[in-house]
Amino acid sequence: MNLSKLKDILKSEPDFRVRQIEKAIYKDFCENWNEVTTLPLKLREILNKEIDISINGKILKSEGSDSLKALIKLDDEITVETVLLMHKDGRRTVCVSSQAGCASGCIFCKTGKLGFKRNLRVEEIILQALFFSRYLKKQNMRITNVVFMGMGEPLLNYDNVLDSIKILNDKNKFDISQRKISVSTCGIIEKIKLLAEKKLQINLAISINAPNDNIRQKIMPIAYKYQLNELLSAANYYIKKTNRRIMFEYVLLKGINDKSEYAQELAKKIKGLLCFVNLIPYNGEDQNKKPSLKSINEFKEILLINQIPVTQRYRFGTDIKAACGQLVFLKEKNNYLK
Ligand code: SAH
Ligand code: SF4
Repeated sequence: MNLSKLKDILKSEPDFRVRQIEKAIYKDFCENWNEVTTLPLKLREILNKEIDISINGKILKSEGSDSLKALIKLDDEITVETVLLMHKDGRRTVCVSSQAGCASGCIFCKTGKLGFKRNLRVEEIILQALFFSRYLKKQNMRITNVVFMGMGEPLLNYDNVLDSIKILNDKNKFDISQRKISVSTCGIIEKIKLLAEKKLQINLAISINAPNDNIRQKIMPIAYKYQLNELLSAANYYIKKTNRRIMFEYVLLKGINDKSEYAQELAKKIKGLLCFVNLIPYNGEDQNKKPSLKSINEFKEILLINQIPVTQRYRFGTDIKAACGQLVFLKEKNNYLK
């Protein structure tokens, strides 16, 4: 899909054509111009010839029925991953990528290992939500939530991510409320402060992953640039400005950051902040990094004792298939639906 020629084609058309076309694409999720019967036939023919609105994506089905991963090929052959999570309570969340690859290089993350390729354009971010919207439309469903937790660091593609949020939020487009949109960052302090000034109602997640700079630097190279105490004061600033509860994500890595004493240390540092902690047991390929159930539970207990709310968000029963950020299914079956 590439809409760059649209402006030119609509040059001599009345203004309302733009709105009709935006509605067809972002609200009615039309897959080709023939479906857009509000447009004159002649214009449809021109659009059919000049603007391809198909999406070059394929769905890989996960083992359970609660998550679908899609690979979407962009114009320059780069592939991005996106996931649809079907929650039992009816939420249908799309986890979108904001960059191809990532420059931050966290040691536990698959995307980090790819290195940085490029920022995604607004259209390429939206494409991912559009892909699953078209898929769900066939079952009379819509996506209800969007999380920027796929490949890449959203706050290092700040302008495009914010413009995408506008399209997702727009009443005449996806119409997803800001409270159902989440952005996860490894902690780009200056951008957190900038975002705070916008006073949006979106959810901010900060991948804290460690209770101190020493451990953080070992697993997240970006921590050399951004110190934890400054990150926490940026988080505090964000909360003050927006009055929104922050989610701290903590990937538990066996023997690295999962000891009880670290839970104590973390609790001490975030106590009093309007926040909760989302504990994510490492779910990559390296078996040595997988925390034991005992250490997960102890970590959780200590936070709870310290009155810090804890969730394990991305677990569906015992089936952790689509932890975003690495978007790798445990047993990928290459079971193409399309
Ligand atoms: N770059 C952003 C958003 C993408 S990563 C960020 O880092 O926050 C989204 C989440 O997935 C992060 O919290 C990250 O810590 C987590 N994650 C990455 N690799 C993981 C893995 N192997 N196991 C569990 N969680 C992982
Ligand atoms: Fe990048 Fe986030 Fe992965 Fe770290 S966890 S390498 S910031 S995508």
